[in-house]
Amino acid sequence: MIDGYGRVVDYIRISVTDRCNLRCVYCMPQEGVQSVCHEEILRYDEIVRLAGVFASLGVRKIKLTGGEPLVRKGVPSLAAELNELPGIEQVTLTTNGIGLKEQLPALAAAGIGGINLSLDTLNPEVFERITRRPAFQQVMEGLEAALGYPEIPLKVNCVPMNVEGQNVTELAEFARRYPIHVRYIEMMPIGLGKQFGFRSEAEILAELETRYGPCRPFDGTLGNGPGRYVSFEGFAGKIGFISAISHKFCERCNRVRLTSQGFLKTCLQYERGADLKSLLRGGASDGEIRAAVEAAIRAKPASHQFLQRQDAEEDKETHTMSQIGG
Ligand code: SAM
Ligand code: SF4
Repeated sequence: MIDGYGRVVDYIRISVTDRCNLRCVYCMPQEGVQSVCHEEILRYDEIVRLAGVFASLGVRKIKLTGGEPLVRKGVPSLAAELNELPGIEQVTLTTNGIGLKEQLPALAAAGIGGINLSLDTLNPEVFERITRRPAFQQVMEGLEAALGYPEIPLKVNCVPMNVEGQNVTELAEFARRYPIHVRYIEMMPIGLGKQFGFRSEAEILAELETRYGPCRPFDGTLGNGPGRYVSFEGFAGKIGFISAISHKFCERCNRVRLTSQGFLKTCLQYERGADLKSLLRGGASDGEIRAAVEAAIRAKPASHQFLQRQDAEEDKETHTMSQIGG
């Protein structure tokens, strides 16, 4: 489907839960997380029905996200059902890696088309400071298990931040040694991310070039999103950057988001969209839901305004990233 600015929207991130087994400092508060009760979260049959409507409007790729998607039971079966929908070409997953080792066989059998694993550091002590949980070993086991499925494309995503000892260049070693891509995501001022300064693409690239020598730009596209990639001599995989702040990519935005509570969000930064759960549970037909989705996508904002004053617009996003799905 084409939005009001001529952009093709063919990708949706579907959050299956707002719960998580980590508490990353830029994503979730340490205490007082109000989990939404189960009845408020879309059931899998509701997600599949909505995904069918999105597919009928031209969505081709789905990313399952959360919170942490793997804390909800049955994600592999959901992925398999979504894969069966006419028009859907790929169902992928983003995860913090906990539980991945156990669920990989079922995910592979479900035809998962790719896994993004979020990992901000290779230092267990820094990991615990960032995520507030002693789960580094489990994440590494998940990563190692994923390396055992070379048919499932794997990306490691890191959010560089100003925290002592993070050493983001160490993570690039995965791309040097294995045919997987390591991507650096600029911290966005959404939810708790507002409290952290971002480290820019230019800064990280300079650190990588000091360690690995000059890079070459990679012109092809990899994945479904706004990542820009470079190659380093001798690397098996690529290094990518998702730089919403220093290299705004809104004019190429191809995505919308469905929250676990069934709200269709058309831009990360704004609360705008459509309450599809109310429509679903109010007995709306597929045609009525389709019309609501079309109207929301036509009104998708032109771009984020991350660098403008935070109080400049009234409907700016107030949720945390774990509630939105990243
Ligand atoms: N729990 C899963 C995970 O960590 O991959 C999926 C949900 S998480 C919200 C998705 C991604 O959003 C993660 O890679 C996380 O690092 C990223 N993220 C969270 N808050 C962010 C922020 N303020 N700016 C940029 N990325 C953020
Ligand atoms: Fe959980 Fe992912 Fe947010 Fe970390 S980034 S708290 S793993 S949802």
